[in-house]
Amino acid sequence: MPPPLAKPATPEPAAPETVAPGSVTTGSNDSDDGSLAAAYGATSANSGLVPLTLARRSPQADDVEIAIEFCGLCHSDVHAVRGEWGGQAWPLVPGHEIVGTVSRVGAAVTDFAPGDRVGVGCIVDSCRECESCLDGLEQYCENGMTGTYGAADRRNGDAITQGGYSSSIVVDRRYVLRVPDSLDPKAVAPLLCAGVTTYSPLRHFDVEEGDVVGVVGLGGLGHMAVKLAKAMGARVVVFTTSESKVPAALELGADEVVLSRDEAAMDAANRTIDLIIDTVAAPHDLNPLFRTLRVDGALFQLGLPSEAMPPVNPRALIRRRIAYAGSLIGGIAETQEMLDFCAQHGVVADIEVVRAEQLNEAYDRMVAGDVKYRFVLDTSTLRAPAEEADA
Ligand code: NAP
Ligand code: ZN
Ligand code: ZN
Repeated sequence: MPPPLAKPATPEPAAPETVAPGSVTTGSNDSDDGSLAAAYGATSANSGLVPLTLARRSPQADDVEIAIEFCGLCHSDVHAVRGEWGGQAWPLVPGHEIVGTVSRVGAAVTDFAPGDRVGVGCIVDSCRECESCLDGLEQYCENGMTGTYGAADRRNGDAITQGGYSSSIVVDRRYVLRVPDSLDPKAVAPLLCAGVTTYSPLRHFDVEEGDVVGVVGLGGLGHMAVKLAKAMGARVVVFTTSESKVPAALELGADEVVLSRDEAAMDAANRTIDLIIDTVAAPHDLNPLFRTLRVDGALFQLGLPSEAMPPVNPRALIRRRIAYAGSLIGGIAETQEMLDFCAQHGVVADIEVVRAEQLNEAYDRMVAGDVKYRFVLDTSTLRAPAEEADA
């Protein structure tokens, strides 16, 4: 999501003035008809996740109101909730891997109807006018996309957006995705961020049969990269720091697994890879990875560690015409394309469903690398919202 996937679109926006501890408002334009949502969120970088009540706006003409069923837990949520990216408004309800069913639609919405199964990823608005938006690259909106949480919502009074660890959300129809019926909704949720974030660079590189794709870090993003690259026909090599993940990586479909801290194994992988998708959430040295690339290879860095990375050695890039790139999630049309691709190939995430009261423990486990491969919150376990939001 918003690079920082949850960072406000405008620098350091103040939290809504009226917010009192334990409640959050999300900019209802029509408070008569707005609704309250049960949620879990953080009130500071040290609070962990606690129960909150959100006031969601009533659906405006172009809005879709969604009863959320499931929401994936992305490592970006952890970075944001723990204040690792800075510039964060509190309180913050994270979550940008949202799946649910439409409960109400605005008067101008003709493409969604109550009961439809839908998804929302990391983007809930963008300027819709700049070159990037017109090209379907809303994530690179020149005026700043509006992230699903922690961003100033420019069309809704600059209220701070609040995400999917909640029972409902209201989103403009242009940013709502259709979830194919054939896929298990709880295992689809992680596709909305982890799926599209790895699909986009694989497509950008035009991965096809015969290509060799390296996937670094076998977490939420990494395991989706393995499944998607395999579905595109590539040979997949996983680079992991965790010896314990070797059998699991092979089970997922990897053709080969390399322990990235084993120098001899890294040497043996010299000049064998066409494209590396690097999903590591912590600072790490990229230079040994560059040596595994062939001429004209590329490394896409997707992880956004909060601390500086060791310097890249330009020699490693120059000697093989290697491209070192970054990539941010994917646009709305591409996210739909990814969902349809997953339906066609039967691809979903491997998940562990958690209850609301397990969220903090799930975060610790994610940081410790103890997850196969994505936690998904079952929002039916959220406690009922307070009778009214206190703001
Ligand atoms: P995750 O599920 O926690 O997986 C990250 C993996 O990185 C771990 O499973 C581990 O894999 C590896 N790793 C963690 N610490 C490491 C260390 N100290 N040294 C080496 N490897 C380490 O996280 P995720 O949800 O996939 O997210 C990964 C990163 O991508 C995060 O920084 C997140 O913010 C970012 N992200 C970016 C975008 C984007 O648009 N660019 C979108 C979503 C998320 P092994 O055990 O296999 O080594
Ligand atoms: Zn994410
Ligand atoms: Zn734009």
